[in-house]
Amino acid sequence: MLYINGTWRQAQSGETLTVYNPATGKELAEVASGGRIETKEAIDAANEAFTHWKNTTGLERSTLLRKTAELIRENGEDIAQTITKEMGKSITEARREIISGANYVEWFAEEAKRIYGETIPAPQKDKHLMLMNEPIGVAAAITPWNFPLSMITRKITPALAAGCTVILKPAPNTPLTAIKLFECLDKSGFPAGVANLVIGPAEEIGKEFTTNPIVRKLAFTGSTNIGKKLMKDSAATVKKVSMELGGHAPFVVFEDADIDEAVAGAISTKFVNSGQTCICTNRIYVADEIADEFSTKFAQKANKLKVGNGLEEETKIGPLVNAQALEKVSRHVEDAKKHGGNVLCGGETLDLPGMNGFFYKPTVINEATEDMQIATEETFGPVVPIFSFQTEDEVISKANDTNYGLAAYCYTKDLSRGLRMTRQLEYGIVGINDPAPIAVQSPFGGVKESGIGKEGGRQGMEEYLEKKFISIKY
Ligand code: NAP
Repeated sequence: MLYINGTWRQAQSGETLTVYNPATGKELAEVASGGRIETKEAIDAANEAFTHWKNTTGLERSTLLRKTAELIRENGEDIAQTITKEMGKSITEARREIISGANYVEWFAEEAKRIYGETIPAPQKDKHLMLMNEPIGVAAAITPWNFPLSMITRKITPALAAGCTVILKPAPNTPLTAIKLFECLDKSGFPAGVANLVIGPAEEIGKEFTTNPIVRKLAFTGSTNIGKKLMKDSAATVKKVSMELGGHAPFVVFEDADIDEAVAGAISTKFVNSGQTCICTNRIYVADEIADEFSTKFAQKANKLKVGNGLEEETKIGPLVNAQALEKVSRHVEDAKKHGGNVLCGGETLDLPGMNGFFYKPTVINEATEDMQIATEETFGPVVPIFSFQTEDEVISKANDTNYGLAAYCYTKDLSRGLRMTRQLEYGIVGINDPAPIAVQSPFGGVKESGIGKEGGRQGMEEYLEKKFISIKY
C-alpha cells in the first residue's frame, strides 16, 4: 500500500509489484506500485502539511517521534521477521537492526528539542546579529534494501525532527518493512501529509523528486552511479542533496596487531549482512610477516560460518539479495582465480535442500593482486581478497588508491601509528582496532565518490536545516 496524505491506498493505475523471499525464491506479497502521479500527489500533500508542521515546537515533534520509537520496539519481532523474509539477513542481525532503527528515531526525537541558533558579535554598537535554523522544506528520500529499516529512520526522522515534511521511496525488494514503519508513524499521530510513502518504478519517482521545485532536499543511499545521476538531475532546481554511496573499505593489519582480534574484527566487518553493507571490508592488507598466519586463521573462521535461511536462529550468512548480486560475486571470484588468486575457502554457490535461494559460500582469496576486479570494484557479497604489504607508506597508498572513501579499518597496537593512519586514510569513517565504527550519536558518511553529507549524530539534523542570518539595527 502507498501512504499519501495520511491515507493508505492503491495506485491509481491498479499496478502492483511482487516481493520475493531471496532465501526460498517464494512470493511474499503484492504491493501497490505508484508512479509519477502518486509521487506528485505526495509532494503536494507534503507541501501543504509543511505550512503547519514547520511551526510546531521541537517538543511536539519530539513527542510524536518518541512514540514511533516505542512502536518500532513493541512490534520489533514482527518487523525483524519481515526484514529477514524480504532481504535475507539473519534474524539475529535483523533484530539488531530493530534496535538501531528505533535508536535513530529516539536520538532525533531528542535532537528536535535542541535546534539552537547563534548570536554573532556585531561590528557596530547599534546592531544585533543572529543566526536561526529553519527546516529546509519538503524532503524526498530514496533508500536501498540492505538495511530496510535503519536506512529509512536515519533519513526521515531527522527530517521530521527538523520540521520538514517527507516522501520516501524505499527499494522495491523491501517495501514491506517500509510499510510497517509507516504503520508506526501513522499510529504515532503525525498529521496527514507530514510523512508519505511512495513505492514504485525508480526512474519515474526519481524524476519527479529531482525535477519538482517543491522538493528542497533529496537524501539518497545507494550506488555511486545512481547518486551521480540524481545529483545531476537535482541541479536544475538547486536542491540540497545528501548522498550515501558505495564503498570499497580497506582493512589493514600491521605486524604488531593482536592477530586474533584482527581476525575476529575482519570476520565481523566482512560477513555482516552477507557482505552487503557499504562499510563492509572489501580488501584486506596484511603485513608480510604475519600474512600466512592471518590468512589461515581468517579462512578457518570464515569457513565455519553457517550459511542458510536467515529465519533459522543458527544462520550467520543469509542469501544474497537477488540473482544479479549472485552473478556479480561469482564473476569477481572467477576473475580473481584467473588472475592467480588462491581460494582458501568457499569460491562457489551453495544449493540448500528445499530452497531456491541466492546463497554463496563465504570466500577468502589470498595472493591477491591489483589487476583483479575485486581490487577496485565494490563486491557486495561474502568474498574478500587478502593482499600483503611491506611498509606503512605502501599500504597507505594502496588503501587510498580508489575513488571511494567511505570506511577504512586499521589494526595496530602502536598508538602513534594508529594516529598516523587516521590522518592519512582518505575516508569519512576510520575504525582503529574497531570493526564497528558506527553509532547513532556519531555522523556517518563518506568522502570522494562515496558521498556528500552525514547521517546520524548532531550533524544528521543539519542536513535538513537552513541557516537564516538576521541583522537588526536599533
Ligand atoms: P541502487 O541500485 O543505487 O538503488 C538504491 C535505491 O535507489 C533503490 O531504491 C533504487 O530503486 C533507487 N534507484 C535506482 N535507480 C534510480 C533512479 N534512476 N532514480 C531514483 N531512484 C533510483 O543501489 P543498490 O544496489 O540497491 O544498493 C547498494 C548500494 O548502496 C551499494 O553501492 C552500497 O555501497 C550503497 N550503500 C551505501 C550506504 C552508505 O551509507 N554510504 C549504505 C547502504 C548502501 P530500484 O531498486 O527500483 O532501482
